[in-house]
Amino acid sequence: MKNNQKTMLVTGASRGIGASIALLASQEGYKVGINYNNSKDAALKLVETIQKNGGQAVAIQADVSQSLQVTRMFEEFDAAFGKLDVLINNAGQLASFMITEVDEKNLSGLYGANVFSVYYCAREAVKRMSTQSGGKGGVIVNMSSVAARLGGLGGGSGYAGTKGALDSFNLSLAKEVGAFGIRVNAVRPGLISTEIHNVHGGIAPMEQMAKNVVPMGRAGGPDEVAKVVVWLASDGASYVHGSIVDVAGGR
Ligand code: NAP
Repeated sequence: MKNNQKTMLVTGASRGIGASIALLASQEGYKVGINYNNSKDAALKLVETIQKNGGQAVAIQADVSQSLQVTRMFEEFDAAFGKLDVLINNAGQLASFMITEVDEKNLSGLYGANVFSVYYCAREAVKRMSTQSGGKGGVIVNMSSVAARLGGLGGGSGYAGTKGALDSFNLSLAKEVGAFGIRVNAVRPGLISTEIHNVHGGIAPMEQMAKNVVPMGRAGGPDEVAKVVVWLASDGASYVHGSIVDVAGGR
């Protein structure tokens, strides 16, 4: 059923999984905020596509690893739509470095984009959603990864660590805000065909590898993750809370 009232902010929605979530949510009737950092053209094109289909969307630039930029992003979202019902903490980066290559730049870059971002965005969302502070409740979905339990691919200790942190954060936040009308869940995708894999050779080699390591014998599509995320945001998942849903083809 279409929901013409609700709003959703998707971080990192210019490309890949985030763009699929924003597009599907708009088709379900959500007004969507499309956060991007560098990919302005892609974000604006997605807004145009949604608007051509009769939906409502706004693109908002912000580096979500930066607390002040996150605060401004939520203010711009407020100005566009007036309220926030759903936050999808999707923005993230993949990196490949061995433990002997760790330095402040690669480690803080990764933890900033994948972990600090989620804290900053959840902070702003809870301020707006919590029934304790006059809000009407809401939903937060965090984008983890099977790397949290499998350790990631080669040079993946940094990335896997960030996603393990998200799994713990997800559970803890669910305990903190569950009584304030806010449902919190996470999704753990497996190998999904997006540009994130350019970090280690591109989509084609990843899809080849998936044939061997994924029980279903293939990589997933971003749309297959988006369907689960949009379901978690819906009333169909009204008693799903503090959970982590694997979308990984059995891996
Ligand atoms: P992607 O195609 O590389 O897209 C990443 C998105 O995140 C882009 O829109 C990018 O924005 C945005 N982003 C990155 N850093 C940001 C920052 N600091 N501030 C704002 N936006 C930022 O990646 P994806 O595969 O769709 O990944 C989306 C999420 O799913 C990530 O959290 C990733 O870890 C997770 N995931 C992916 C897979 C997979 O196999 N693809 C598997 C498990 C989990 P700009 O381009 O505008 O900078």
